[in-house]
Order: sequence, then C-alpha cells, then structure tokens
Amino acid sequence: MNGNITLTIIKPDATGKGLAGKIIDHILQAGFRIKAMKMVYMDERTAGGFYAVHRERPFFQDLVKFMTSGPCIPMVLEKDDAVADFRKLIGATNPAQAEEGTIRKLYAESIERNAIHGSDSDENALREAHYFFSDMEIF
Ligand code: ATP
Ligand code: MG
Repeated sequence: MNGNITLTIIKPDATGKGLAGKIIDHILQAGFRIKAMKMVYMDERTAGGFYAVHRERPFFQDLVKFMTSGPCIPMVLEKDDAVADFRKLIGATNPAQAEEGTIRKLYAESIERNAIHGSDSDENALREAHYFFSDMEIF
C-alpha cells in the first residue's frame, strides 16, 4: 500500500516572487491537506544535508546556494497516494519539460530555480518530514 504523506518545500525563487499563496492554493485545490507548515531560512549545512544524495553532482554547490538564498516553506501534506500524486501535480524537474497546468510549468523559472520540491518515495517522505518537523507536528 502506498503511504499518505509527502514533504514539499516552496523554494526561494517562488517565495521571493510572492507566489507562495498561489502555490498553496493550487495544492489545496488538488485535495492535499496541510499537516505541518513553517517558513525557514536554511544555512548551507541544512540545505546541503537535505540534498545530500546529490552532493557529488556538478550542480550541488549552486543548488545549496539557491536553497539558502531566501525563505523556504516546508510542508507535510496528506492525501491517499501522496508521493506519486504530488509528483504529478508539480511536474518534471525541468519546467520546460513539465506538463501544462503543473506547478512547475506555471511558476518555475529553470531546472534549478524550479519553485517546489516533492519527495520521491514514501521512505524519503518520512525522512524529509522529520528533517523539518517533530513527530508531534507530523502525526
Ligand atoms: P526535488 O528533489 O527538488 O523535488 P526533483 O526530484 O524533481 O526535485 P532532483 O533530481 O531530486 O529533482 O534534483 C533536486 C534539485 O536539484 C532540483 O529540483 C533542482 O532544483 C536541482 N537540479 C536538478 N538537476 C539539475 C541540473 N541539471 N542543473 C541545475 N540544478 C538541478
Ligand atoms: Mg528529488
């Protein structure tokens, strides 16, 4: 059975352009419930730790710089089949390849400044939720 939570982050490009409200509304309209939410300013260690799987990739330093460039809004979202449905809602990593109507197609600038994160597995969703929130805040 697939899990019912996922972790998202509204990224600094989107918060900086005042798009957080529109993006949150889009997520709610799609049937997700917000279980936990806050605004955070990540330092290099926090952003690098979050994207640690990518630390050997050529874009890692730029990604950390981008993620520390302004406020982020992590949220724990609840819905049946949350991980897969949310990845569909946000669209491909590169907004140029994202489907019409997806959050990245609507609001993202580039493959790096792509407005929003979505967990890629149930296991990572739980791990990432705990990266920002305590058990009490999630459950
Ligand atoms: P996320 O994990 O943020 O939801 P994703 O799962 O679609 O995105 P990943 O492959 O996990 O994509 O990459 C993590 C993030 O790193 C991307 O969202 C993007 O901000 C950045 N990124 C990925 N590939 C590139 C690239 N080729 N050049 C620059 N930045 C990239
Ligand atoms: Mg990813």
